[in-house]
Amino acid sequence: MKKVVVIGAGTAGLAAAVRLQHKGYDVTIYEKNKKIGGRMYQLDIEGFKFDVGPTIVMMKDIYEELFIYTGVNPNNYIRMVRLDPMFKLEFPDGTILHATNDLVKMTEDNEMFSEKDAQGYLAYLADVYKRYLVAKKYFIERSFRKPSDFYNLGTMRQALKLKTFSNAYDSIGKFVESEKLKQSLAFQTLYIGVSPFTGPSIYTIIPMIELLYGVWYIKGGMYQMAKAMEKRFLELGGTIKLNQNVEEIVIENKVAKGIIVNDEMIEADIVLSNADFPYAMDNLIRDNKYKKKYIPKKIDKMTYSSSSFMIYLGMKKKYQTSLHTIYFTSNFKKNVDDLFMDNIPDDPSFYVYSPTQLDESLAPADKEVLYILVPVPNLHHTKNKWDKKEEYADFILDILSKKEGFENVKNDIEVMKIFTPHDFEEKFNLKFGATFGLRPTLLQSNYFRPQVKSKYVNNLYFTGSSNHPGAGVPIVLTSSKLAVNEILKDDKNE
Ligand SMILES: Cc1cc2nc3c(=O)[nH]c(=O)nc-3n(C[C@H](O)[C@H](O)[C@H](O)COP(=O)(O)OP(=O)(O)OC[C@H]3O[C@@H](n4cnc5c(N)ncnc54)[C@H](O)[C@@H]3O)c2cc1C
Repeated sequence: MKKVVVIGAGTAGLAAAVRLQHKGYDVTIYEKNKKIGGRMYQLDIEGFKFDVGPTIVMMKDIYEELFIYTGVNPNNYIRMVRLDPMFKLEFPDGTILHATNDLVKMTEDNEMFSEKDAQGYLAYLADVYKRYLVAKKYFIERSFRKPSDFYNLGTMRQALKLKTFSNAYDSIGKFVESEKLKQSLAFQTLYIGVSPFTGPSIYTIIPMIELLYGVWYIKGGMYQMAKAMEKRFLELGGTIKLNQNVEEIVIENKVAKGIIVNDEMIEADIVLSNADFPYAMDNLIRDNKYKKKYIPKKIDKMTYSSSSFMIYLGMKKKYQTSLHTIYFTSNFKKNVDDLFMDNIPDDPSFYVYSPTQLDESLAPADKEVLYILVPVPNLHHTKNKWDKKEEYADFILDILSKKEGFENVKNDIEVMKIFTPHDFEEKFNLKFGATFGLRPTLLQSNYFRPQVKSKYVNNLYFTGSSNHPGAGVPIVLTSSKLAVNEILKDDKNE
């Protein structure tokens, strides 16, 4: 039985480990933290359970497919509930939109803006759906091993069909005129740390996926997905070692031989790193000759996603709110530009998640969980030390207390935890605290993104947000599938 070591029990590490163990490999995961999940971590503070990172479940089939692959019914591992409305959007003038994929309700809501916008909205969905099918087949669900996998007539023809050269906001503007509708289809690029004003237009597929495939909630919160993967992995006979900081990937004569943990060499036939790619290149591969183009200078020069400032609140009493709410600021463009110009937003849009609206299991009786995410700059070129994080949290809570239903929010807090970009950098080894890893610019996407198979070292593979195809739970689940497919192909075990 071939031995595989996986570095990191994040989403992609766990999912790849499940697949490999199912295929007959002897898999051990080494995770530096005391709990599994990576960014899909859970904080448990005095009975309040907080999802640390991901909260919005899209592309449900991809979550389920992992369990089906190993021959079990996903419903026995994760229980999904469809959300309708999917989320609430609140604008500074008090306008509220409830994003829905009920076609009748959607049309009624959009006609409030104008019939032309209602028509444009449908045209946007049809256009982006078509481009999504191309992206899925030719770019997302495949790896690029060698230049000719990308530079060939067929792939170039499909790339042109993606029409990805304009930015997301302008491309939405071709379909709808209302600024509010535009924003309602644009903010989703921030899910992967990209500005809608500069990010490639293909990322308008994110709201299309929400609208056509739905948004779901996993009972127990997102962490339940990590626990479900862990459960399946252990059932299949895999091993997880926690509190194990991997120090090095051992490479001899261009072949990965194992890892070093606590000064001890652990031998393996295959090494799969789920640690964020830029960190892995800087820290786990010691010899520059095995990094090839990803030497420290290049890693430093790459472009990184935005980061997140988080406030996790356990509330003394119940609150009447939605599961997912986005509060827009009056100057959305300036707010987004600030994120990529190293300015901590002084008039931010932010997101509030309250899973206890649906799920009593996440807080003590009659109490509430609130999770507040404020997109902020990463630490790449930063002047921001975040030494006044309590003051910034207070500033955000002041803004929230002006929203209906939250007037007393500051007095109702029982427990509070803050995460800044530094916490993401330290806890999960995310370079520059960029919460979504390498930014998927055109030059850091598809063939140009670090691939799942090392080009320079045999038996070494990567999986996760900064690898192809990119960030977001369903996309890193896809990355893990690609990595396993590459391993099986190399091992002639298909
Ligand atoms: C605030 C926030 C909100 C988000 N919201 C959403 C959302 O709503 N929906 C969605 O789909 N996605 C969302 N995402 C993105 C999603 O969480 C990530 O894309 C995904 O979880 C990343 O998984 P991963 O496996 O790539 O990496 P990670 O989760 O970072 O896993 C890597 C693992 O490797 C471990 N590791 C690193 N170095 C070492 C080492 N030297 N030794 C041992 N272990 C090591 C880390 O501790 C970690 O456990 C969000 C992310 C954040 C941060």
